Amino acid sequence: MIRWPLEWPVGVALGVAAFLAVRGADPAPAFLALALGLLLAATPPVRDAVERGLGRWGGAGDAPGPASFDDVGGQGTAKRELKEALDFLRLQEAARRLGVRPLRGILLVGPPGTGKTLLARAAAAYTGSAFVSASGSEFVEMYAGVGARRVRDLFERARRAGRDAPGRSAIVFIDEMDVLGARRGSERHHLEYDQTLNQLLVEMDGLGRGGPDEEVTVLVLGATNRMDLLDEALLRPGRFDRVVRVELPDRVGRLEILRLHARDRALAEDVDLEGLARETFGLSGAHLESVLNEAAILALRAGAPAIARAHLAEAVEKVIMGERLDRLPGREERRRVAVHEGGHALVAELLRPGSVAAITITSRGNALGYVRHSPGDDRYLRTRQELADDIAIALAGAVAEELVLGARSTGAQSDLAQAGETARRIVLSGMSRLGAVPEGSVPEGELFEAVRDVLAGEEARVRALLAPRLRVLESLAHRLLEEERLGGEAIAAALREAARAG
Ligand code: ATP
Repeated sequence: MIRWPLEWPVGVALGVAAFLAVRGADPAPAFLALALGLLLAATPPVRDAVERGLGRWGGAGDAPGPASFDDVGGQGTAKRELKEALDFLRLQEAARRLGVRPLRGILLVGPPGTGKTLLARAAAAYTGSAFVSASGSEFVEMYAGVGARRVRDLFERARRAGRDAPGRSAIVFIDEMDVLGARRGSERHHLEYDQTLNQLLVEMDGLGRGGPDEEVTVLVLGATNRMDLLDEALLRPGRFDRVVRVELPDRVGRLEILRLHARDRALAEDVDLEGLARETFGLSGAHLESVLNEAAILALRAGAPAIARAHLAEAVEKVIMGERLDRLPGREERRRVAVHEGGHALVAELLRPGSVAAITITSRGNALGYVRHSPGDDRYLRTRQELADDIAIALAGAVAEELVLGARSTGAQSDLAQAGETARRIVLSGMSRLGAVPEGSVPEGELFEAVRDVLAGEEARVRALLAPRLRVLESLAHRLLEEERLGGEAIAAALREAARAG
């Protein structure tokens, strides 16, 4: 946010007042002058002028930093598409000769923390451009005309900075593009936004108009995770011409990112980054960086010379589930949690041997305990059997509570919601007794019945799996109460032992 040094005028005025008081003169005029000055300074035009004069606004995030495409892990497609789009900047002469229309804007679209800012910085380094950045929310002002003026300033700054850049070009990076570029007339919008957005369109339309003699080539990179909110005018040809998707990394991508961030960190011998990449499905690059950082902090606290596997395991849990809860459930409640989680883990191990990464009854975030699964490869298509197994694993916690403790608890609510959602998917993908039914054509009552049938079938299957293994379940729960956390291999071992004992 913008801050200009209020302390200066206040300090000077107080100093003058003190001097006058010591000299025996009346300090009142100095205070009056201070009050007037402050009042004047609070008015938008003056404040803006001061900000501009001090060069404060948006000055912060402009240092390009040492980012290159090699620092961005797991975004192969995005990097390739972006590099292709940037070639017109690298090969300006040839592009001009061939009459390639200069690209004015590229939109980077994807979830938070996937590396959009990093890609924009890398783009600047790749093309030898100056890097000037701002966030959409910085343009949102109550005062009419301020946002529009900031847009003008931003482009002006880019042109100035581009003059000294090796490629005589500049990249303007605008994060949170949806705040600045929301559809005009929409709820998230009011008149001041319109002016700001109009100004951005005007600036973009002006880019590349100067022909071969134009001093500096400016390219706008916008980042958003809500492209659907953007005003259509922004997406028209000649504005944000290209859209580059920046998705959550897959397993290989996660491994690349982990390796990148592990480069400058001391890792112990037992660390298995490939295993870690497999276990962190759904985490973004920012999450993964955070995992390594948290693990480093844990190692530091423990006085360890390097980050060990156990630090990483705890860091993953911390990043996924939030901070450890101070409140500890009582003994009875913990036993229930242990039985519940033991049920999930046991059924998971029976249906997908080797799939349980860890099981814990340490409270984190909103969960009193949880089982962490390690999916093999990332999957985007699922068969009916796989979905049915998902449901069985989700229902196993409640069934275990019922079999061991005689009654269920509210702890199964989110499991049930998840199981219900999966059952719905089975029905709507044409994999239930209703056969192939297009979504929207099934009456709500019939859909409910079909979902209930799927759930009842899986519940019966779970009961049949757990009932003959109550001893294993109880001993797992007991060990969990003792140790709080068990690795996946403990569950497999307990099952093997039970099988041997007959
Ligand atoms: P937001 O949409 O929230 O602004 P973003 O997509 O711009 O997020 P970045 O700011 O680029 O994400 O990423 C934040 C940090 O996460 C980076 O500084 C980096 O440490 C790490 N990071 C994210 N993605 C990657 C990646 N693909 N490779 C390496 N590091 C990454």
